[in-house]
Amino acid sequence: MAASEHIAPASRAQPWHKPLGAAAGAVPRHDWTRAEVRALFELPFPELLYRAQTVHRQNFDPAAVQVSTLLSIKTGGCPEDCAYCPQSARYDTGVRAEKLMALDTVLAEARAAKAAGASRFCMGAAWREPKDRDLDAVCAMVAGVKDLGLETCATLGMLTAAQAGRLKDSGLDYYNHNLDTAPEFYGDIITTRTYQERLATLDHVRAAGIAVCCGGIVGMGETREHRVGMIATLASLPAHPESVPINMLVRVAGTPLADEPKLDALEFVRTVAAARITMPRAMVRLSAGREDMSEETQALCFLAGANSIFYGPKLLTTPNPGPDRDRELMERLGLRAME
Ligand code: SF4
Repeated sequence: MAASEHIAPASRAQPWHKPLGAAAGAVPRHDWTRAEVRALFELPFPELLYRAQTVHRQNFDPAAVQVSTLLSIKTGGCPEDCAYCPQSARYDTGVRAEKLMALDTVLAEARAAKAAGASRFCMGAAWREPKDRDLDAVCAMVAGVKDLGLETCATLGMLTAAQAGRLKDSGLDYYNHNLDTAPEFYGDIITTRTYQERLATLDHVRAAGIAVCCGGIVGMGETREHRVGMIATLASLPAHPESVPINMLVRVAGTPLADEPKLDALEFVRTVAAARITMPRAMVRLSAGREDMSEETQALCFLAGANSIFYGPKLLTTPNPGPDRDRELMERLGLRAME
């Protein structure tokens, strides 16, 4: 083959044929526009993955995956109406309301998670917001888990500034509070709290000095433009979340979204890649929905820059691949747990 046959004629060059500068993705930006994020989603798939990989490698070891475990410390009976959630008291999903778990039980679960290789232990409670009495108990759990040498994370609903301060004082490292979706689609999913209230909780968490875990859910019937809007909103927060969970909807019988058509797996991978490129130093977490995802799709997500997973047979109330399946997949892909 003649050398000239290897060179694409100029007329076939596309706008995305711009070289990636050495510093592309090295410095986080907070001024991402929707047009820029939309352009990422519209890239040819190999180009998008190449860009995501480049940014990932500039910021992380691509073979290291952070492993978290999530425990439901207070299950069901939530007064909120999040359309995807089996723990809402408004939907008949078979999830029974339980009391807050005892401290000893939580610590036993945390020890087991550590022994299984988790470095972060997340505690989730199905509340609109914690009552101060409940917060006393959660603070004791956070302090106990921290003493075991694990990073601590909690997701308890909306927080006041004072509550965020108390959690920080008890040793909380991360607080999870998702934006869920784009602002303009949010009202289709949740009516009992506003987007602005979510942003206010994130501000309180950040001001208390707690790292932020904040992402969203795809496959809820939103359009691509809504996915673009969600990523653009996250990427233009004053500080990027340290962790960005990208969830695929788990369609639970009894919830309003039970019959949503399944989202194309490659569109999910595109969302992960857009999160990686726009939030280069965040841990991008492959979260809910992995149970129903092929190993090949999960491998593409790692290629697209995902570098964190939840480990364990359950994510709050929905199934998750067991530790053995995860360990086997990580071994096959040559990935290892991040210290
Ligand atoms: S997502 Fe959280 S706030 Fe919403 S219904 Fe479920 S437990 Fe309640």
